[in-house]
Amino acid sequence: MTQNSSGESSRPVIGVIPLWDEKKDSLWMLPGYMQGLQEAGALAVMLPLTDSEGVLGEAARLCDGFLFTGGHDVDPQVYGEEKSPRCGAPCTARDRMESFLFRAAVLGEGKPALGICRGIQLFNALLGGTLYQDIPSELSTRITHVQGAPYDVPAHGVRIAPGSPLADLLGTDSLQVNSYHHQGIKRLAPGLEPMAAAEDGLVEAVYMPGKPFVWAVQWHPEFALQWESSGKLFSALVRACSA
Ligand code: MN
Repeated sequence: MTQNSSGESSRPVIGVIPLWDEKKDSLWMLPGYMQGLQEAGALAVMLPLTDSEGVLGEAARLCDGFLFTGGHDVDPQVYGEEKSPRCGAPCTARDRMESFLFRAAVLGEGKPALGICRGIQLFNALLGGTLYQDIPSELSTRITHVQGAPYDVPAHGVRIAPGSPLADLLGTDSLQVNSYHHQGIKRLAPGLEPMAAAEDGLVEAVYMPGKPFVWAVQWHPEFALQWESSGKLFSALVRACSA
């Protein structure tokens, strides 16, 4: 909570990247993103889907921080690769919008950001890393990274890097997580530090040292708000936005 001009506590405003459904030609939102942020003390606001730099500049001024949500595969063009047939259809509007917000507001102005699923992949791509375009055909692993419903049960474990901010936050060196992603970090971007990895070596949490708060996870806390770790992750973003 921050203090407004009349001395009352006010909720930090967190801009949430909208999801896009091309079949319905509609924006949509998973309630867990909004609820997780609200329970952590924020006012979560779903942003418009736009690449207007004027509008996004206004959003960057309005918002104290950002949640980069799950969604479409990042266009491999963003990290300089050809699109594999197993890569999903991109959402160019999101790629452009999130690229601008990340560079201008997060890197440029130091606004806090949490990335989830596509979010960790996007941060890695924008910072010069690459992605597995399709984990099942590109990574030899016994782990199921695409679980079926229900999504609030763990699918695999992650080892948390000792001494990392995530280890400090959760107070543990391992965590059971859900897993619903067919892409993931292939070559880690310079500027990102791993905070957690699956047993097959896949990096599942990162942060940017030297930035106030740029964190991302490959799993889905929004599907499992009842987990202590999920509440702590949303709270960490909200705390950073209140600082
Ligand atoms: Mn996974």
